[in-house]
Amino acid sequence: MERWPLPRIDAARCTSCERCVEICPTQALAQVADKATLLYPERCTYCTLCEDICPTNAIALPFLIVFARQ
Ligand code: SF4
Ligand code: SF4
Repeated sequence: MERWPLPRIDAARCTSCERCVEICPTQALAQVADKATLLYPERCTYCTLCEDICPTNAIALPFLIVFARQ
C-alpha cells in the first residue's frame, strides 16, 4: 500500500504529448511504451503541474484527508 497518494495516469486517455514529462520539476515522469508514467514516484512533490497541463485530463491527483484526533 502506498504511504502517500500519488498522481494517477489513465493510459487510455494519454496521447503521448509529453507535456507533463517536460513540465515536471523533479523529473518524476517519463514516457514508457509511448505513455506517460510516474517512473520515479519518490521524486514527486505533488506540485500538481502535470495535472494542470494535461490536455486530456489523463492525470488525477487524489488527496488524502487526515482527521486530527480531538
Ligand atoms: S500531458 Fe497528458 S496526454 Fe500528454 S503525455 Fe502527459 S498524461 Fe499523456
Ligand atoms: S505532481 Fe509535480 S512533481 Fe509530481 S509528477 Fe506531477 S509535475 Fe511531477
